[in-house]
Amino acid sequence: MARRTLIAGNWKMNLGPVGAEKLSMQLKSSLMDDQSVDFIVAPPFISIPAAVQKLQHTGILVAGQDLERAVSGAFTGGISGEMLREAGATHVLVGHSERRSIYGDTDQIINEKLHAAFRAGLIPILCIGETLEQRDSGQLELVLSTQLLSGTAGLQADQISTIIIAYEPVWAIGTGRTASPEQAQSAHAFIRSWLGDNLPSYVAQQVQILYGGSVKPGNARDLLSQPDIDGALVGGASLNAQDFKGIAQAIK
Ligand code: PEP
Repeated sequence: MARRTLIAGNWKMNLGPVGAEKLSMQLKSSLMDDQSVDFIVAPPFISIPAAVQKLQHTGILVAGQDLERAVSGAFTGGISGEMLREAGATHVLVGHSERRSIYGDTDQIINEKLHAAFRAGLIPILCIGETLEQRDSGQLELVLSTQLLSGTAGLQADQISTIIIAYEPVWAIGTGRTASPEQAQSAHAFIRSWLGDNLPSYVAQQVQILYGGSVKPGNARDLLSQPDIDGALVGGASLNAQDFKGIAQAIK
């Protein structure tokens, strides 16, 4: 079965409930009749109910940007996967580079968050990627395989086959600097071959691998036409309905 194309928008810490409602309505009118591509948006926690409500029956799904590992309890400021699910989210980002670098999410914490996502019935979008120093010192494959191995530890092959992986070179996130289509394809092919080497073959065939890092309507076509790139995780350009739509249209 061919993998479907998925365009996911990470709104980061932008748009409260009012702004989220407005953008969701714009997305509803511009994306709803596009059945050839799947869409997910990840608003800030507080804006999830507004997005879920406005995107009902559109096929556009809603994700959390992170989750707490526990179900509930003394975790001031935390939001659990169960709460996200209750609010209508179906997916959750795990291990975004900003969570890793600003909030100190380690590979161990990220692994526990993946388990927590499955416990709550959410599909995780696992973000991995190297820094410029790591790439320049020839550690790209080591970094990716370490993040994959530790991130998925203890999960069943069937669970891993449903994970969405986002390859996001840290040096390309929010910088305006994009990996070339060849650089991105080669990292995606490595990720797929790692899955093939370490898990039953259906897993590598099934897993959607998104590219993230300054994706815009102007560079989307070259990136998304690569054989192992199944879609995009979009930050800045996902805050504008026309740009988000433009990225999906570039595929055709
Ligand atoms: C992201 O936040 O995951 C991202 C890729 O951001 P941007 O598109 O702005 O680089």
